[in-house]
Amino acid sequence: MLIIGAGISGVGAGYHLGDRLPGKSYAILEAREDLGGTWDLFRYPGIRSDSDMHTLGYRFKPWTDEKVIADGDLILDYVRETALENRIEEKIRYRHRVVRAEWSTAESRWTVEAERTDSGETVRLTCGYLWNCTGYYSYDQGYTPEFEGRERFAGQIVHPQHWPEDLDYEGKRVVVIGSGATAVTLVPAMAKRAAHVTMLQRSPTYVVAMPGEDAIAKAVRRVLPLKAAYAVIRWKNVLLQMGVYKLSKSRPSLIKKWIRKGNERLLPTGYDIDKHFKPRYNPWDQRMCLVPNGDLFEAIRSGEAEIVTDRIKTFSEDGIELESGTELEADVIVTATGLNVLFLGGMELVVDGDPVDFSQLMAYKGMMLNGIPNFVFTLGYTNASWTLKADLTSEYVCRLLAHMDAHGYRRCVPEVTDPSVTVEPILDFNSGYVLRALDKLPKQGSKEPWKLRQNYIVDTRAIRRAPIADGAMQFSDSARQAKQPPLEPVAG
Ligand SMILES: Cc1cc2nc3c(=O)[nH]c(=O)nc-3n(C[C@H](O)[C@H](O)[C@H](O)COP(=O)(O)OP(=O)(O)OC[C@H]3O[C@@H](n4cnc5c(N)ncnc54)[C@H](O)[C@@H]3O)c2cc1C
Repeated sequence: MLIIGAGISGVGAGYHLGDRLPGKSYAILEAREDLGGTWDLFRYPGIRSDSDMHTLGYRFKPWTDEKVIADGDLILDYVRETALENRIEEKIRYRHRVVRAEWSTAESRWTVEAERTDSGETVRLTCGYLWNCTGYYSYDQGYTPEFEGRERFAGQIVHPQHWPEDLDYEGKRVVVIGSGATAVTLVPAMAKRAAHVTMLQRSPTYVVAMPGEDAIAKAVRRVLPLKAAYAVIRWKNVLLQMGVYKLSKSRPSLIKKWIRKGNERLLPTGYDIDKHFKPRYNPWDQRMCLVPNGDLFEAIRSGEAEIVTDRIKTFSEDGIELESGTELEADVIVTATGLNVLFLGGMELVVDGDPVDFSQLMAYKGMMLNGIPNFVFTLGYTNASWTLKADLTSEYVCRLLAHMDAHGYRRCVPEVTDPSVTVEPILDFNSGYVLRALDKLPKQGSKEPWKLRQNYIVDTRAIRRAPIADGAMQFSDSARQAKQPPLEPVAG
């Protein structure tokens, strides 16, 4: 098995393989110089999770810190600890950026091509199975729209994905452009040192305050052993998240009222909530923003930060001119305008000489592609913590491999055998970063196992417990035709 990427997903994949199938050999190729992925890359002030750590944490490793919305460095330590404790670190080959993988049916093997980011050398490896854990966005470049007059601005422009280590914003006027999780994290964090921070948004987002620590979790931990307590708290949070999500879809007006009430409680009297905190869409049509201890609202109350809802006309030498005619003066502008979605870390797939067009394929259980043999990818939920799905994917892969070993199969490939399955977009989510990428992504189908449920409880059945041989997953034994692998095998 060759795993690509050493973030939460890749390290988790290594754990599950080592735990459930200790006889299998695997390696992890990682483009960067360290593990942790997202939690090592992003270094902006205040960087933290926006979902609770009892569900963003692995199922197999209890999250023990009191903070439920955790700082980025704590999450990085947790992933690193997992890799060290389970001897996963020694399987990682850093500075290997995978650019291409070609499947040969004759050999039942993948040949993977990686560029060494230090020497520029191309490395080729072969493996029986390929598992892509490269996350969902481009590491090279964050997303920044074209801003007129950008070159005229005399101050500094920074994107959160490329935060300069030495950026000094003490006593400076900062404008943060954006209204997503990154913007609502940055604003209160920067407001502590900056002269003033303005969050400039084109349109509002739902922002919900939650306690930074979980009183129920603390109580449960006092009475139950660590692992049992973690399981209980994790399920409590899964059900709570799902409940809010379900209600958002079935009774949006109820959830809107609840969010509104919370906002009113935390904002100064007379604050224009309609303008700054009332989105045009329903809750969970886009990801909601959680703020621990209401820190964003606190920064607004204290006057250290403000929200401006308007459109940018042009950057000027001193800041930003808005369509309303207002001018925002700034020394530093932060473009918290998002990510560039990238499927499979930008790698090219070729099957028996034919390049694969992902947009023409359908995702099986949200983790494999029709017609692509011995290939898995890990992608988390959009409406719940990423790791819930990542762990389920890993469990499924281990079951699949065990099934193949038991029957002597060497090749598995999902195929759409049911003619009544129709094609649907893979995500029902209207965030800008999703819409920009949708036409390049694979599709989902109208029925299981091609339907993406985005629902952990349904998936515990459809992924954790459903039979491996389900009619869509096709197996074959090519052992008799197999040749010796011509290149360095991963196990070497
Ligand atoms: C700022 C921020 C905050 C977030 N907060 C949350 C949250 O609170 N809750 C939540 O559920 N999700 C959150 N997410 C989503 C987050 O990405 C996931 O939670 C999780 O970290 C993804 O882990 P991953 O290992 O799948 O991907 P990543 O963390 O992206 O790691 C992918 C790894 O693959 C490597 N890689 C990529 N391409 C290649 C290649 N071609 N060859 C070799 N290696 C490659 C990368 O270098 C990286 O190390 C957040 C995302 C961001 C950007």
